[in-house]
Amino acid sequence: MGSEYYVTYTSSEDLSAEVAELLSSIEESFSTKVESSVVSRINAAGVGSISLTEEESAVLERCFALAEASEGAFDPAILPLVKVWGFDPPYLMNGEVPPTQEAINAAKAISSYTLFTYSRQNATITKSLAGAELDLGAAIKGYAAERVRDLVKDKASEALVYVGGTIAAVGKNYEIGVTPPRDSEESFAFRFTLKTGEICATSGDYERFYTYEGVRYHHILDGKTGYPATAGVISATVVGEDGLLCDALATAVVVLGAEKGAALLEKCGAKGAIVTSDKKIVDCGLSVIVKDKSYEIA
Ligand code: AMP
Ligand code: MG
Repeated sequence: MGSEYYVTYTSSEDLSAEVAELLSSIEESFSTKVESSVVSRINAAGVGSISLTEEESAVLERCFALAEASEGAFDPAILPLVKVWGFDPPYLMNGEVPPTQEAINAAKAISSYTLFTYSRQNATITKSLAGAELDLGAAIKGYAAERVRDLVKDKASEALVYVGGTIAAVGKNYEIGVTPPRDSEESFAFRFTLKTGEICATSGDYERFYTYEGVRYHHILDGKTGYPATAGVISATVVGEDGLLCDALATAVVVLGAEKGAALLEKCGAKGAIVTSDKKIVDCGLSVIVKDKSYEIA
């Protein structure tokens, strides 16, 4: 999935092969870049239903539940728009120029979770419009971190799991510093305590972006407008025990903005810290400690 991972742990066993095997099986199942993955099979298929394994069904159920709960701020079927914007290799095709309005409109018309119906009972997913495509990239690293946490927690007395920016703590608490979303002298903007068993995920407009004619275009898209989110959130950190949920929520909060984002975190029982473009930190139960003094608690 084009991401780095590492796990540091204390154990008498060497867990590296098991962790690598687990992560490659998740990639094989859910990456848009693996042809045989369920996501690629759904994307290549026309209108109709596809049967799901137990794991595929469970992951899609959780993704579609959050799509509903966030009213599409997290949209697991946003791939046509992602491709048009070209932020994700190997799709990069626009150079550093935004796509045309026509191209955005065409992609927007086929980018929506509402074009799919997930059925738990039948363990199927049904596509209702040709061209609609899934992308679980905003949630799957959190899922992977959660699975690695569950694998190592019985075998290691303590561990820190890092999968593409999503972090899980096992066996003890860790202090986590969050990357300053804008240029900074400090190595982190603020820190908080990640408790044992918890996972944190951070999304922001600084991770993949370009500036064109003075406007920042970044990789977190608002399916309602077809454009990168402009809700005034530059970084969102979400913490809880459900890794997939935290990762997907971090993306959703960037789309929703601070106020609606904080309300969604509360509804989902997650903690977080939301950084706004005026450099205020909305602390949603994380008790953050600010390091970069250009940021302040809202
Ligand atoms: P993350 O880094 O977890 O915030 O995920 C961002 C990635 O998810 C992007 O690179 C896209 O592939 C995809 N994505 C962009 N916008 C959304 C969205 N609103 N909902 C779901 N996935 C998205
Ligand atoms: Mg995410």
